[in-house]
Amino acid sequence: MDIKFSYFCQKYPWKEKEEIRYNTGSGPGRRGGKSGVRPSRPYAAKRGDIVETEKLTEDKEIIIGQKERDRTGEKRPRRRDFRYLLSGGICLAAAAALLAAARKLPGFADWYTVHIYPLWVGLVGRIFGFLPFSAAEIGMYLLIAGAAFYLVRHWRRPLRIAGRAVFLAGILLLSYSLNCGINYYCVPFSSYLAYGTEGRTVEELEELCRYLAEKANEYADCAGQGLTPEEYAQEGIRAMTALGEEYSRLSGYYPRPKYLTVPWILSVQQLAGIYSPFTVEANYNNAMISYNIPHTICHELSHLKGFMREDEANFIGFLACLESERREFLYSGYVMGWIYAGNALAAADPESYVQVRELLKEEIQADLEANNRFWDQYEGKVAEVAEAVNDTYLKANDQEHGVASYGMVVDLMLAWFEETVK
Ligand SMILES: [Zn+2]
Repeated sequence: MDIKFSYFCQKYPWKEKEEIRYNTGSGPGRRGGKSGVRPSRPYAAKRGDIVETEKLTEDKEIIIGQKERDRTGEKRPRRRDFRYLLSGGICLAAAAALLAAARKLPGFADWYTVHIYPLWVGLVGRIFGFLPFSAAEIGMYLLIAGAAFYLVRHWRRPLRIAGRAVFLAGILLLSYSLNCGINYYCVPFSSYLAYGTEGRTVEELEELCRYLAEKANEYADCAGQGLTPEEYAQEGIRAMTALGEEYSRLSGYYPRPKYLTVPWILSVQQLAGIYSPFTVEANYNNAMISYNIPHTICHELSHLKGFMREDEANFIGFLACLESERREFLYSGYVMGWIYAGNALAAADPESYVQVRELLKEEIQADLEANNRFWDQYEGKVAEVAEAVNDTYLKANDQEHGVASYGMVVDLMLAWFEETVK
């Protein structure tokens, strides 16, 4: 329409002959001063007026009043809104197609995770890895503030808001699919292990618990001892790289794991860490009791290698801590291993659980109690909702056990114990 109008303007300058109007300063609503004469001032054009300039008489140019311009100019932003909608729709469709291919095409997810996904880690992970803070966390705050400001400013223009919202959703879902969603469908880490996970008895579980308690006791001097963020980051990467020498899928580049400026956001959801697929960052909750941190860092870094299953990430985190040369990481690995195995034993045989728990040194028991007190503060509705959301999310990604899969690490530890320790 605006093309038509400009053509019309050029061809039919219908206001050509209208007089140029000036405010003489003596019209209605104005009073003359003492002298009765005020200097003439040019008429101040108001919105909606159609005004000709002196130039008009020379070259017949028409200046269209603001209102006219508004009316014709509306088409341009509207076109832009549709462009945003279309681009967002294309991103959403691409993301849906990739996720469908990962589910339905055998071998696609594995091929993608091995050949394409590392490129994103090397590129996106490197870019955000340069930042000393969690780009995911700060980006989330900026996004929320920016979206709220935008909504308030443009609430009268729903098409404009919808266009941007669909575009943003498209970009986020596509980056989620590329950096995380497809990886849920590749072969599990257990397929790389030289041992199976079936047919374990309660006696074997008790034996594993005793072993882990003894090993944790060797590092009991680390109870309550934390490291600096830099030390955590360096050692986390070093431990994962060392494990990568044994399992090639875990080798290669790791971006630096990051702590949060406001760890309360994770605490209130009862989360120890989170992998951000949008920035390819491993984030950990730096407020929790320190023995959780090394294991959580390795857990999140395993997601960066495409291992998305929670039980497997826990197992990889356990193995990586045991590869470390720092006592704090070894302590973290054995205590976390004890917690997973101990919880399984408590469910299967509460009496032997109590006996084995007595083996732990006092400082470790104090550490475990401090940990319970820390998480107890955050029990409540928010944590319940967060767990329900996490459960739904995992099941939507074909993780049939949902949050319960965090406990399946025990089967893998039993197999590891049988094959490599005994
Ligand atoms: Zn995880």
